[in-house]
This record gives sequence, structure tokens and C-alpha cells, in this order.
Amino acid sequence: MDYNLLEEKWIPVLWKDGNSNRVGIIEALECAGGIRCIALASPLDLFAVHRFMLTLLYWKAALAGGVEGVRESLLKDEKTPSAVLDGIRTEAHCFDLFDEESPFLQDPSARAAKEKEKKSAGSLFAELATGTNIAHFHHGDDEDMRLCLPCAALGMLRLVPWTQSGGAGLTPSVHNAPPIMAIATGDDLAATLGLNLVPLDVEAGEAKWSGHFKPTDSTKPIPYLEALTWNPRRIYLSSPRAGVCWYCGSRNIPTVGKIVYKKNEGTKANDQEGKRTPFIWRDPSAFYLDNEFKSMNSTKEDQAAENKDLERLIPVRSIVAMENENHQGWSLVVPTTNPKNNKTFDHRQLELKDFSPETIRALMLAKRSSGRSEGFNGWDKLKPGHPAGIRLFVQAAIKVLTYADWAALSNAAYREMHDSPAAFNVFAGLYWGLRDNKIGGLPSRNVAWLLLKLMAAVPAHVRVLYPGAKFYPLDLIPKRQLNERHRTSPYPASFPLGDRLESALRGAVDSNLRKRNPEPVDWIGLCHDLDQLLD
Ligand SMILES: [Zn+2]
Repeated sequence: MDYNLLEEKWIPVLWKDGNSNRVGIIEALECAGGIRCIALASPLDLFAVHRFMLTLLYWKAALAGGVEGVRESLLKDEKTPSAVLDGIRTEAHCFDLFDEESPFLQDPSARAAKEKEKKSAGSLFAELATGTNIAHFHHGDDEDMRLCLPCAALGMLRLVPWTQSGGAGLTPSVHNAPPIMAIATGDDLAATLGLNLVPLDVEAGEAKWSGHFKPTDSTKPIPYLEALTWNPRRIYLSSPRAGVCWYCGSRNIPTVGKIVYKKNEGTKANDQEGKRTPFIWRDPSAFYLDNEFKSMNSTKEDQAAENKDLERLIPVRSIVAMENENHQGWSLVVPTTNPKNNKTFDHRQLELKDFSPETIRALMLAKRSSGRSEGFNGWDKLKPGHPAGIRLFVQAAIKVLTYADWAALSNAAYREMHDSPAAFNVFAGLYWGLRDNKIGGLPSRNVAWLLLKLMAAVPAHVRVLYPGAKFYPLDLIPKRQLNERHRTSPYPASFPLGDRLESALRGAVDSNLRKRNPEPVDWIGLCHDLDQLLD
């Protein structure tokens, strides 16, 4: 099997004429003037592919008048110089994912790893749930996760700019925790590449496309080709077999399963008097204070939610931004990272005109001014009290509804009112009856419907009102823990809605019933708080 990133069609692009398809690296560089943009949804993938193309241009720039010469050719003639393309082509063997001797960004000396030492192919993606990484959108299983070859290529390319720390000595990228990065965007791919290809004020050094990556001297300024191919892992992909890709969903295509994914001791940070010091390297797309090598990153979820983390960009500069001072049109990639373990838990992309303080401040959202500003989703601060209407509703349900009524409601689990006529009749009789009697402060229709379905799910002796009932199912739903220090997980959990809410509440009620001494359920409190949370 071979899969060469120069020729295989793995990069989705949008052409200026409106067509879209996939191209290999050579076609992308050769036709960059006709390509509107790379069409990848994830900001991390998008950045990683641009970064890879730029690294190739830096690598062979000397063949066409240096970095300045290639930049000019891309910006003025919308073309990658043919000498650069030829230079890349002559070393095509470096870009095969499965080359016997020099597989791309992999370390053949790590291939002998035992099966149980291998890790999920999803380790290449910070947002896939693997090991101790947080689940973003995806919940899967380390054993079965497979990636198609275009997605495996994206994952490999993320290694250089986006590797986050892991446990047990898994080091992050050369610039440490994933920083905020900016890409200047042009009208076509040629312009975008030209804008971001800026002269760098350090030695070029050598690109290291394969093998066990070791820096030449990590205490000295890092040469740029070394930094741009810095590989904090020792990886080896397994041989592909047909399967389903867990990242893009393609079926019946060659996929890779578990991979060798080891730490790389050679990329450990330098210690100075017991303190880790950043490498002497400034990523051209990241932001730094003058004379510093610590890249700006975003760490606080509450700030990220309102773009307030962008404020720290005002006093700092990126090399690319300085080289394109008057350019308008930027794409900002903002990973948010937990400073305790350098793992990212959120990634977002923002488009902005420039980096003036006015533009940045305009992106910051005004403080939310709804009555629920205390805590996200407002659900950790509820007004105390049980209005009379709610109490009457719950009392009436318990008093009036018959065994057959509860059975009908029990059959309506996870259904809407219009999907379950028998239960709806029961509901309507009770609810509209109370309304007709001018009882105010009733729960909303949806909350009343949900509460009756939950009450119907328990045995009759649990469906009673005890004074001082303590069991409150909402306590069992994971909450956001923005300011709670002693919690083990600092990650967000949004309030579930719809079937997810019903399922969580059913689970909570059920877990109480399975205790040796179930506690009486606070039905009125539950109804009251749901009414506040949902409406
Ligand atoms: Zn895929």
C-alpha cells in the first residue's frame, strides 16, 4: 500500500469557478491561483494543511529566489514557482504515509510496539474522545476507532502545530500548549499562501519529514525548518484495511486502526533551575510579547464564550501580522486549553478585518444581560420558592389521576403530546381543568407533560408528597463547574434538553429507586425548577 500526500486526492478545495473536489499537494500548489480556498470545517485541520503547504514552500524556497521570491511569485503572479514544485517532486518518497523506510512524520524504529501499547487512531485528534481526552462532539471507543487515509493525513499534519500535552511525559508542540494562531486570508489559495509565507529571522536548518525526531540543539534558537517539522510523538500507522472512518463517516474505504503513539523524549522542554523554559522559537502565526517565547493562548472558558480572551491580543504581535500590516482579512484559530494539563477543550475560528484594538474589542460580546447571567445556562442559580400553582398541579395529579391514567402516561415515555393520544387526554383533562378554574402560576405545558411522564415511571408509593422530601433529580445532572475548585473535571456540561433531559431525569429517579433506602422525591421542587429552566 502506498499513499503519497503529493499525488493522492485528499485535500477538499473550493475552486474559484464554484466547483469543489479533492486534490493532492502538488495540484493544490500548482493551481493555487484557481483555488478559492481549502474547504475544511475544523479550524485545526484548516490551519494544519496551510501550515504543511507553507512548510513545503519554505523548504524549497532557495530554488526560486528564497522566501521573498516565492512570496512575490504567489502574490503577484498567483503561481508557485515551478522550480519549487520540481524540488518537492524529487523528494516525493518523504510524503508517503506507508513508505517502508521513511513513512511521513512517522518513526519506523517505533514500529515494533506491542499490540497493547498501541493507542487509538483518534489520538491524532484533540476533539475525539480517546484516553483521558475530553469528548467534544464524539463519543467512541478506543479499540474500534478507524480513520480513512485522508483523515489520517489530517491527523498527522496536526502533530506539528497542535499537539497538546498528555499524561506520562507526552510533550506538546514546540510552542507549548496550542496557541491562538492567525492566518492572513487572500482571494485565492495563492494569495493566502503568499501572505503567510514571510521571511523568518532565524537559520533555516533541515526539515525532518520522517524518523525519530530529535532537535539539533534545543537550548539554542530553533532553526525554522526544524520547528516547522517538530514532531513531539513517535508514531507508526498500522496497515490499512477496509472499514468506516470515524472522523468523516466514509464507508468501505481503506482505514487505519490502532497506531503506535509514543512520547518523544527528545522534545522535552528545557529546565532552568527546576523551571521549564520555552524553546527559543516564535511561530510566525502565533502571538508573542516582545522578547518573549511564550505564545499567547486562551485558557478560560467563561472568557472564551464571550471572546474576552481576545483582549490579550491587543498588546502583542505575530510575525505574519507584522509583515502584512495593511492587509485586511484574517482567520483566527482559538483553541482554549486547560492550564492545569494543557489539554484543549474548545476550538473556534473567527474572521476579522485586522488586529486593531477597535476590531478586537468589537468582537467581544457585551455581558449577557438576561436575568440568568449568574452562571452559564442560568441553571445553578434558581429562585427559591414553590409557587402555589405548581404545588396545586402536583397535588392534583396525585389526587385525581387513576391507575389507568398513570399507565397511559407511562406508555408515553419519550413521546410528544401529539404522538400519544391516550396520555394527552389524561394530561389535558388535568391541566386544562386547573386552568379553567383560574389557578395561576401553573407550570408550562411542556414542563407539566414531562413531570407527569416522570411521575408515571415510578411505583405509586413513590408518587406521593412527603414534607421535607430531599431527593432532587436535577442534582444528578452534570453541571458546569466554572468556579468550583475542588471538582475533578473543570469542563463544561450544557443543560440537556428534549429526550436527553427526559433520559437524564429518568436515570436519576431510577437510581434513587435502586438504593437500599430510596429517598422521597421532591416532585414540587423538581417541577418548579424545570419550569424556570425550560421557559
Ligand atoms: Zn475520514
